[in-house]
Amino acid sequence: MYLNRTRTFSAARPLAALGLLLGSALARPAPTTAQDMARVRQTIARLTAPDLHGRGYVSGGEQRAAAYLQGRFRDLGLQPLAPDYYQFFTLPVNTFPGRAELRADGQPLRPGLDFIAAPNSGPGEVRGPVYRLDSLVFAQPAARQKLLATPLAKAVLVLTQAQAGRLTELPPVVQAHLATAGAQLTLVPGKLTASIAGEQAPRPRLEVRAAAWPAAAHTVRLRLDARLRPAYRTQNVVGYLPGTARPDSFVVVSAHYDHLGRLGRDTYFPGANDNASGVAMLLELAAHYARPENRPAYSIAFLAFGAEEAGLVGSRYFVEHPLLPLPAIRVLANLDLLGTGEEGLMVVNGRVFEDQFARLQRLNAAGGYVASLAARGQAANSDHFPFSERGVPALFFYTRGGIAAYHDVQDRSETLPLTAFRAVFGLLRDFLNGAGATPGK
Ligand SMILES: [Zn+2]
Repeated sequence: MYLNRTRTFSAARPLAALGLLLGSALARPAPTTAQDMARVRQTIARLTAPDLHGRGYVSGGEQRAAAYLQGRFRDLGLQPLAPDYYQFFTLPVNTFPGRAELRADGQPLRPGLDFIAAPNSGPGEVRGPVYRLDSLVFAQPAARQKLLATPLAKAVLVLTQAQAGRLTELPPVVQAHLATAGAQLTLVPGKLTASIAGEQAPRPRLEVRAAAWPAAAHTVRLRLDARLRPAYRTQNVVGYLPGTARPDSFVVVSAHYDHLGRLGRDTYFPGANDNASGVAMLLELAAHYARPENRPAYSIAFLAFGAEEAGLVGSRYFVEHPLLPLPAIRVLANLDLLGTGEEGLMVVNGRVFEDQFARLQRLNAAGGYVASLAARGQAANSDHFPFSERGVPALFFYTRGGIAAYHDVQDRSETLPLTAFRAVFGLLRDFLNGAGATPGK
């Protein structure tokens, strides 16, 4: 790791100097016009539309999103990095394509708002009495004996999130007995936050917003269709603009276009901030550099990754099957969650690639872009990570503040503020220019 980092820094220094030279000359107000922001809104509205199904693995949502990006890449005149811009790969993924219903004492709870499926939930149809887990089972053998004597197969086990986190403290025989329950409901304090799993439990598991759960409920009826797809084929969408002076060197912009897909027939996760916003920024940068007067000196690649939400699957696949030489990447800017900005911009790996972050700070000061520009260390939380693990100077940009919607049904385009979008565009453009994307001679 130390060796990688040393090599990366020595490669980055001349570029940082270039950025310093170019910084003042390039600093100017962001050129995005009102028309451009209308286009940004259109992009985000399209990616979050119901017929893209949350860009997941039900009803071909991710394929529809990829086809939309393919069309945009084609219209912009990007060169494909793979046939028809598609780099295919497969992943195991658990999906919720059909019914998603939950009733407590006959009263329906709302999918998405009041309950979600646990990522690894199995399918099932259960009607049975509530069995509330007693916290005494964690402390008292007598309580555990009582639990073991209670048949659970027809019951719905209801437990708090804190209890769920402690289940592994119980003796294996007790854990095995709890696993025989017809279904499991975990009561979650605060908001529900969904994610994706690549495996499936034998029975239904739901997460229920604690405030929406009737404490006195006696009976539960739930129906959940879950389907595990062991080898679902999806794709990265990848294009580039050849450099006019040094086409063998690359500046890379990446953003994942997938999201969490559907929770049953009636509900889906729109993923406006996560990550229609980053994809919209990627497309705006592509449109900028595709103009004849802005053609870059170095090649600039645009990588729209799939299956990020399933564990950085698309970007991991890319670094294992690179369509451009990874050592030729001068810098990679990964864009994920750019739809807010009231509290400025965060740069993950800014503390790892200090020269790059210092250059960003100079450009931000010169251009007066975002009020707050902060740096973090390494984190495996988006698609920059597989690249920086391989020594590529990869930074992950996300805006802070504004809406709290995240991995839930409220992450909608209508309420996305896009507060810092123009400012971040200007900063990224100057940053990429300084890294070699400046117009060639
Ligand atoms: Zn996400």
